[in-house]
Amino acid sequence: MQYFSLQNKQHQVNFETAVVQGLAPDRGLYFPEQIPSLDKDFISHLQDYTDHEIGLNVIRPFVGDEIPEAALKKIVADTLHFPFPVQKVTGHTYALELFHGPTLAFKDVGARFMAGCLGYFRRNATQPVTVLVATSGDTGGAVAHGFYQVPGVEVVILYPSKKVSTLQEKQLTTLGHNIHALEIAGTFDDCQQLVKTAFLDAELQAHRPLTSANSINVARWLPQMFYYFLAYKQMKAAHPRLVFSVPSGNFGNICAGMMAAAIGLPISHFVAATNVNDTVPRFMASGKYEPGTATPTLSNAMDVADPSNFVRILQLFGNNLPQLAERFTAYSFNDKDTIRTMEQVWKEHHYMLDPHGAVGFMGLQRYLQNSPELTGVFLETAHPVKFEDTAPKSIREEIYTPAKVMSLYSKEKEATLLPADYATLKNWLMR
Ligand SMILES: *Cc1c(COP(=O)(O)O)cnc(C)c1O
Repeated sequence: MQYFSLQNKQHQVNFETAVVQGLAPDRGLYFPEQIPSLDKDFISHLQDYTDHEIGLNVIRPFVGDEIPEAALKKIVADTLHFPFPVQKVTGHTYALELFHGPTLAFKDVGARFMAGCLGYFRRNATQPVTVLVATSGDTGGAVAHGFYQVPGVEVVILYPSKKVSTLQEKQLTTLGHNIHALEIAGTFDDCQQLVKTAFLDAELQAHRPLTSANSINVARWLPQMFYYFLAYKQMKAAHPRLVFSVPSGNFGNICAGMMAAAIGLPISHFVAATNVNDTVPRFMASGKYEPGTATPTLSNAMDVADPSNFVRILQLFGNNLPQLAERFTAYSFNDKDTIRTMEQVWKEHHYMLDPHGAVGFMGLQRYLQNSPELTGVFLETAHPVKFEDTAPKSIREEIYTPAKVMSLYSKEKEATLLPADYATLKNWLMR
């Protein structure tokens, strides 16, 4: 499969280059040059395939022959080694739980798949490559766990000191081996700025080749199609007409769902549910794309003003807004509604939502009001325990703490504290 840059269709590269580069040199996102079409028989018999077989069949056309069958099979198996259950919440609404992976959020899937691909492409390299990444919380843990002990890959994670939750910090500072955490005395924006400067530093790159594990990387984006196939497999017998509601920030997850539909998965509609960072809902209403700046909310993994993957959704629909609107609706919700929903769903249905899942749930309810013939699935993208600190007091005590979290709290944090200063970071990286 070839990928082209959304800035310039003439610039085409293979899967390996797209994965290793992340972003095209002209700063465009990579997009598959062809939309594959899956076998209809495969889709109608999804229930007869294992999760691993489904993953392999779905991703294979996007990888082509650049990773041999046996190696790709192993990468898919390592990626999908935890369950993706669908749970009934109300009469017509179901939660697709994406938080059963090692860091309790859906980003584990993309990070693990990308780590597998990068590990394969670097298998004969003599010099290790360094994955350099800035995190505001969830990405760091997923990348740390995904790349843990991958041969030939070093990982350096920059996170803003005292601005990530205790659990998030433990997830990225307690692994050791090839994972290094740099605690930056500054904000997330400082971390991101430092990473960007490092990527442009030729002297540093000559000494220590760098790559990013950014969410726009095709190897993090495309495996998210798996969620939708695995949900459909569980739902299709009883509920053939499905609408998915996806709590969205950078719009990578929902865009993968829409790609799943484009290659043949029969999904009736997609709802993008955002918090007050509502650039896309406003765009769908007015046709004007006006990002502004991000506002902090309880669903902080979605505090994105300028969602990078939205251009990929537009590309899927040939930039035709009316056609997009037939398959895609976007709604925005504030923190007050989010809290009320978390409390109400616990009280009435005994289901514990995290703030992101709550936004997804609200999006689904609103859409189903006018489409009662459909069954809805919302994506529960993180375990509620990850956001325990900010959960409503009335239900906080009820949040269940999984055993793997308990053991994390007792592990020793290992991080290097650095000022938000490029010369100091470079010094550290040049060691
Ligand atoms: C990253 C994240 C999101 C947003 O996903 P996008 O693909 O960026 O739209 C939603 N919920 C949680 C818990 C996340 O970590």
